[in-house]
Amino acid sequence: QKRIGILTSGGDSSGMNASVRAITRVALQRGCIPFAIYEGYQGLVDGGDKIKQFGWENVRGYLAVGGTTIGTARCVPFRTREGRLKATYNLIKNGIDALVIVGGDGSLTGADILRAEWTGLVDELVATGRVTKAECAHLREDLAIVGLVGSIDNDMSATDITIGAVTSLHRICESVDSLTSTAQSHQRAFVVEVMGRHCGWLGLMAGIAVGADWVCLPERPPPLNQEKYGDDWGQEMADIVGQYRTMGSRKSIIIVCEGAIDRNLKPIKPDEVKKVLEDKLGLDTRVTTLGHVQRGGSPCAFDRYLATVQGVEAVEAVLRSTRDTPAPMIGMSQNMVISVPLMDAVKLTHSVAEAISRRDFKLAMDLRDPDFTS
Ligand code: ADP
Repeated sequence: QKRIGILTSGGDSSGMNASVRAITRVALQRGCIPFAIYEGYQGLVDGGDKIKQFGWENVRGYLAVGGTTIGTARCVPFRTREGRLKATYNLIKNGIDALVIVGGDGSLTGADILRAEWTGLVDELVATGRVTKAECAHLREDLAIVGLVGSIDNDMSATDITIGAVTSLHRICESVDSLTSTAQSHQRAFVVEVMGRHCGWLGLMAGIAVGADWVCLPERPPPLNQEKYGDDWGQEMADIVGQYRTMGSRKSIIIVCEGAIDRNLKPIKPDEVKKVLEDKLGLDTRVTTLGHVQRGGSPCAFDRYLATVQGVEAVEAVLRSTRDTPAPMIGMSQNMVISVPLMDAVKLTHSVAEAISRRDFKLAMDLRDPDFTS
């Protein structure tokens, strides 16, 4: 009977609760014992009442609730071996031999490190008398680890979509729609800053969904027409925004991702965009930073679905897991649930940032979307 610990870690995202619900209930159906670990890795390090056995009713109502009810945290101690030793102690004391982590690339990396160190950590606890051999007897030599990606940014390579991204996109669209009506009334321009430090998915999708004039992304720095504009993205943007005004538009919407850069990797900030629109086009321009509103609230139908089908697969992956197979990350490709080696996905994600830092923007786009279906 496998004892499966479930934790949510890193930044919260809508649908994390739905995944906790699915993992809990499928685990029960498959004869396993689920445990909720509160406050991410902090709960694992602290133990005690932060690790709680869950039953069917503990996750009642979870589908429609945003964020993560079992809590999340950034946990500095877990980055150290000493912290992971405490985590191992608490896992052994609770007899937990599998972990499903819902988080971003940092959280999944932490899980992989714990797994790699697992045997050594267990041996150390036994050797120093903190746990007995008998307490470890029912544990296998390996700790099964499975990752689900909860992230509003959709910033993980090797999966088409992450849990929470679509809900955040909905919130952005609603907010920009509200701005659009006032912009139109006053013939104003709005520069809207959206989240996405390294990944422009939210900005790009929102730009399409609200009909923005211009979008500034981390992966595709302007100007797009370098032959004509050189490095002067401001002029390219002003020409395009101005053209729509000439065609009769009464408003201008420019979306700027938090991590937007120009071709020299210099950050593009909303105030700079505002100044260009005022100076070159004389537009009455306001800046709106959407901030934490974007984190979501109640998850949209798609995130509930995504978290649920991936949660089902996470339990199956725990049951399939062997010592010799790499820890899997559950993702989506072409509308199918897939399982890929977790660290391959993390490494690909990091290579996107590296490609951008080398100004290889084409490679960055390709690495976002490799073919994992085969
Ligand atoms: P995300 O999971 O959203 O990328 P973070 O990078 O902040 O968010 O990671 C969340 C938590 O995961 C950290 O607070 C830390 O406890 C753990 N973690 C992240 N990176 C590592 C690492 N390299 N080694 C061990 N633990 C890590």
